[in-house]
Amino acid sequence: MRFKVVIVGAGPSGYFAAKAFQEAQSNDLSFAIDMIERLPTPWGLVRSGVAPDHPKIKTVSKVFEKIAKEPNFRLFANVELGKDVSLKDLRDEYDVVVLATGASKGRKLGIPGEELNNSLSAAEFVPWYNAHPDYVDVEVDISSDTAVVIGAGNVAIDVARILAIDPTELDPTDMAEHALIKLKQSNIRTVIICGRRGPEHATFTASELRNLPKINNIDVFIDSKQIEDAIKRIGEMDNVERDLKNNIEAMKTIAGHEKKGVSRKLEMKFLSTPLEIKGNGKVEAIVFQKNKVENGRVVATSETFSVKTGLVITAIGYDSSEFPGISIESGRLSNIAGHIEHNVYAVGWAKRGPTGVIGTNKSDSKDVVDLIIENLKDPKISEGITRMLKSGHKVIDQIAWEKINASEVITGEMAGKPRLKEVDWKRLINLGRS
Ligand code: NAP
Repeated sequence: MRFKVVIVGAGPSGYFAAKAFQEAQSNDLSFAIDMIERLPTPWGLVRSGVAPDHPKIKTVSKVFEKIAKEPNFRLFANVELGKDVSLKDLRDEYDVVVLATGASKGRKLGIPGEELNNSLSAAEFVPWYNAHPDYVDVEVDISSDTAVVIGAGNVAIDVARILAIDPTELDPTDMAEHALIKLKQSNIRTVIICGRRGPEHATFTASELRNLPKINNIDVFIDSKQIEDAIKRIGEMDNVERDLKNNIEAMKTIAGHEKKGVSRKLEMKFLSTPLEIKGNGKVEAIVFQKNKVENGRVVATSETFSVKTGLVITAIGYDSSEFPGISIESGRLSNIAGHIEHNVYAVGWAKRGPTGVIGTNKSDSKDVVDLIIENLKDPKISEGITRMLKSGHKVIDQIAWEKINASEVITGEMAGKPRLKEVDWKRLINLGRS
């Protein structure tokens, strides 16, 4: 039996779902996979999320291109769910609908002053420096000497590193040209990452931490006392996971690391909850409440402190965008083990929320595909997506995407970069259709 599958969203979880369908094929079971994507370019967070100075992580795109080369796979980029095609049509025309639409809305702190100019979310700042066509015009003012990043996860590290790094280190990367030009004019020399809980609660990964002191022209600071206190508290815990041990070890090394004496500084502060962002139209300072850990719980003290800064970036997690008819629960599409309703499923951050690295999606998408296969009945007789799109709709298919890809890689090579990303939506479409 041959089933028609549509995957909405061409990011890692969508491609890994496609791969799981491809690998599940047998003599009596096959799938015709259509992947639709709102942007004119695929690869999701591998293109617009992964930091430009982390090129190794991006090599997973080779896996995506292999999946896309299989004869049962078709790409329909520049096709938006809810605008160009409706969820109802997809449900009716396909045997299976897989929503791999991620979580792109930055969560809010909900504190006074958050709406001031230059108080941004990583959900805007990261796609801005990664050449996402929707974020080219994000206004980032980097004229002050200090930036504050809220959150103690890997996105906070990415954001802080990009702000602190000597921008010439980013010349040989695929960072958006507009961002690189701006960062070269940056006055920021101190970047402070602030976590509301202790070092032992931070969700950084050890490899990201270990990388920081190795970066040229940055000194990284963590107060040794905060790490010693955390080690004492960890000593009182029953089960200490290896990841936590590695993290604390990496932070201890940073705290004791010999400093280079350079002007660019990256500092990590813990047990600090943001209370208010102050400023007159634009960010001028941020006020924190000091916390302490008591019996394993983080509690507020009466002490506050203020940091003068012209830029605050929150990296405190993401929520999924809504679709008519599908409710949101804790920031993700309401689902049970990936099943939303009828023949509609979710994978990736849309399913589980903004957790896990790119590779996490491999097993997670496969688990959902296994469940889908268990639930399959008889295949529908239908025409699929072609009937739904208006005539003349400018689809970017796999061949068109390969033209865009080749053009970016060639122009990048001439500039000594892996690629020079095109940021203009219309020019992207023209490149693909040339
Ligand atoms: P994350 O790891 O969940 O970190 C979010 C941080 O925000 C946590 O420290 C959290 O603190 C804090 N936070 C949440 N609400 C807050 C509030 N109201 N006030 C202050 N702090 C608040 O999420 P992420 O950094 O966005 O990363 C998302 C996923 O992508 C993670 O799985 C991450 O590992 C992955 N990622 C991986 C890489 C890489 O492998 N290189 C790079 C980027 C992202 P609490 O713990 O106290 O809630």
